[in-house]
Amino acid sequence: WEKEMAKLDRLNLVGEMAAGIAHEIRNPMTTIRGFLQMAKKNKTMADEYIDIMLEELNRANGIITEFLSLAKNKATNFQTMSLNDIIASMEPLIQAEAMLSGMHLHVNYGSIAELAVDDKEIRQLLLNMAINGLEAMQPGGAFTISTYMEGAAVVLKLEDQGSGIKAEYLEKLGTPFFTTKEKGTGLGLAVCYSIAARHQADIELQSSDQGTVFAIKFKGA
Ligand code: ADP
Ligand code: MG
Repeated sequence: WEKEMAKLDRLNLVGEMAAGIAHEIRNPMTTIRGFLQMAKKNKTMADEYIDIMLEELNRANGIITEFLSLAKNKATNFQTMSLNDIIASMEPLIQAEAMLSGMHLHVNYGSIAELAVDDKEIRQLLLNMAINGLEAMQPGGAFTISTYMEGAAVVLKLEDQGSGIKAEYLEKLGTPFFTTKEKGTGLGLAVCYSIAARHQADIELQSSDQGTVFAIKFKGA
């Protein structure tokens, strides 16, 4: 059942991320096509343009690699690292997704302790929650990711300026297939809660019509 759920969520993730990825890949392709058309016309190409083309190709390749690593099925693999590094690796993807809908992403990297985490799972949690936050907001809204210490616990806080979660829905939150969206799967949060549980982290939630805050609290060593 868990495996089925993870599979469905990955499909959901693939769909939800496709627009962001398409945008990130189309930009370098447009640049490269422009340079190639110019080179064909001029029968020559300056070295600096070749360098730009290689850079753009490397960037696009990196984005695809990142995307595939999210979609791959892997056993839980805990390693000691900083959540900040995981967030930094996701920032361009979430940034692209936010930009597509005219929203802003802010990241406050706090000074935090390292933790034993499965970085692939934390990435998925981050992405599922970021997508929910972005889906809840109007253009111009801001999504803010912060890390900080609370005693010995490391906190990952995800804050949106969306429409909030109605009180009557709160108890259903995280139940598989609970969705209020026409095309929702209702699996994103269920996966987040199971990832948090595997990391022995608690998820605290505050929501009003001004927005929603998820605080994921990882117990200290
Ligand atoms: P889906 O996004 O496919 O609907 P999720 O499991 O990700 O499924 O979320 C379940 C439900 O929880 C959403 O349909 C929505 O009603 C609510 N929800 C989750 N995150 C937020 C948020 N940041 N702001 C408002 N509502 C949210
Ligand atoms: Mg969702």
